[in-house]
Amino acid sequence: MRHELIFVGNPGPLTGAGNNTYLLPGLEPTLIDAGTGQDTHLLALAAKLDESNAGLSQKKDLLAKVLVTHCHSDHVSGVPAIAERWPLAVFAKMPWKDRDDQYRVSWKALEDGDLVPAGDSTLQVVHTPGHSPDHLCFFDRESGTLFSGDLVIAGSSVVIPASAGGDLVAYLNSLRLVLSMKPACLLPAHGCSIDEPNTVIQAYLDHRQQREDQVIAALRQGAKTIDDIVSNVYEPLDFGLIRAAQENVLAHLTKLVSEGRAAHDGTVWWMS
Ligand SMILES: [Zn+2]
Repeated sequence: MRHELIFVGNPGPLTGAGNNTYLLPGLEPTLIDAGTGQDTHLLALAAKLDESNAGLSQKKDLLAKVLVTHCHSDHVSGVPAIAERWPLAVFAKMPWKDRDDQYRVSWKALEDGDLVPAGDSTLQVVHTPGHSPDHLCFFDRESGTLFSGDLVIAGSSVVIPASAGGDLVAYLNSLRLVLSMKPACLLPAHGCSIDEPNTVIQAYLDHRQQREDQVIAALRQGAKTIDDIVSNVYEPLDFGLIRAAQENVLAHLTKLVSEGRAAHDGTVWWMS
């Protein structure tokens, strides 16, 4: 399976060096994730399409479809600009009704297990909720390549935005699901490709278990609020990352409550 990495060019505290999008050239030129609509991204995409479609009978700048991993703005807000530039492109994702409606294209709905022609191959849709309820990975079974969106980031961890659709229990199940698929390579939406997926995913599972142990220890030592726990568990954080840490702690607390191990009255949390 051929693929070309096209950078979005949106560096920031939560996007790292910026987002990756991937073009699968061939019979069904397909872009994975839409980026944010920057001119530089659209120009790079147009240039890659021209180059890769040159030898084919189809129109040189044809873009057949855009597969969106999930409805977070760094992955999806480029949809209107791409739709304007490539009006024939089909936009597809798993529905997340409250969020999708803000991007005015007619979305094609994807479901777990769907098989989608992309480039010169066929991708299997894999529902991997947790980071967001609509999160999808796209698997090329033949090469073992998994386009993994925000499931994992090499050398970093993923935010579980618990107050905005994130779910840690679902996320851990998604990691275990992908582990069981034994992909050969992950192509994430941030950071470099991951050539030892099983090692990285297992390290992620271990990291979350350590975090949970730390949250429990903090509660046992008298931490009562999310801010107490953040300052107890995390090293001093840059301002831009505090909100993400609060969300992750809330995700752990919500998991512990769902397991009957912790309780809260809205602001104060304790081990039950
Ligand atoms: Zn995201």
